[in-house]
Amino acid sequence: MRDAQCSLLLESFLHELHSKYKSCTEGTVANYIPELSKVNPELFSICIATVEGEIYQVGDYNELFTIQSISKVFVYGLALEDRGRDYFLTKVGVEPTGDAFNSIVLDEVSKRPYNPMVNAGAIATTSLIKGTGVTERLNRMLDMFRRYTGHNVFVDISVFTSERVTGHRNRAMAHLMLNFGTIDQSIDETLDLYFQQCAVMVNCHDLAVMAATLANKGINPVTGEQAIDSCYIKDILSVMYTCGMYNFAGEWAYKVGIPAKSGISGGIIAVIPNVMGIGVFSPPLDLRANSVRGVKVCEELSQKFGLHLFDCSRQKLQFCN
Ligand code: GLN
Repeated sequence: MRDAQCSLLLESFLHELHSKYKSCTEGTVANYIPELSKVNPELFSICIATVEGEIYQVGDYNELFTIQSISKVFVYGLALEDRGRDYFLTKVGVEPTGDAFNSIVLDEVSKRPYNPMVNAGAIATTSLIKGTGVTERLNRMLDMFRRYTGHNVFVDISVFTSERVTGHRNRAMAHLMLNFGTIDQSIDETLDLYFQQCAVMVNCHDLAVMAATLANKGINPVTGEQAIDSCYIKDILSVMYTCGMYNFAGEWAYKVGIPAKSGISGGIIAVIPNVMGIGVFSPPLDLRANSVRGVKVCEELSQKFGLHLFDCSRQKLQFCN
């Protein structure tokens, strides 16, 4: 457990980071899903949840937004549980693309999408979620999100509909994968599910608890519920580490050194195994579709507390006893 002084240090550093970057005006809010462009760009929150279930948060941490690509991490976990690692690997690879999140590219030889964190791979992953019909499959996903957040979650119908009618690029990818036999016939059902998982509403507090659940061997540190079989945590964190930040993943791994995932609504989760989960929310994005403030905050947290996984000089995290 952290002593009072350490908790205070963490708390005050979060406030320092929040006021430092509050006035940052870099980046632009995503607009290719029309409904997302309506968000207030000034919203900004940072939350840390430790594996002991302690919460440290600052800013607009109760504000709800759609989870978008961060959902890919958790649906990947559910697909692994549903299908097992070996079968999953025949459908979706684990190789970083170095390309944008929505690039239309499949492995030349295997015709698999490169990894479950880019859109093509995420759509193929969603197609593997088990259930009789679309409602049961959606309910299984929602229940999975409930285990990670500790409460029932809902789909934002406006954002879902907005992406459903404009998501031609994702639709094209699904058809390409059908052409190669990577996914099955039920394209409309799979795309609806995929757009719905992206439109699940969460707040920054939820992001931190979800990340902390991954840090805590799959057990939600607040509710004590097992959200995913612990044997898949290493699969999830490895893929987050190498592919979670898209075409910024290499630089992120080098500089920040923590498994992470971003989404175009402006969220980022980062996982420090056995220690804590970080959630940041700020809608303006950089050119690689990562939250500008989110990246800066994670960089500073990593430096300040020596979070980089391969930093040999760190013995124990400086704020831990
Ligand atoms: N729903 C978005 C899409 O499929 C998610 C993308 C993202 O968050 N990077 O394009």
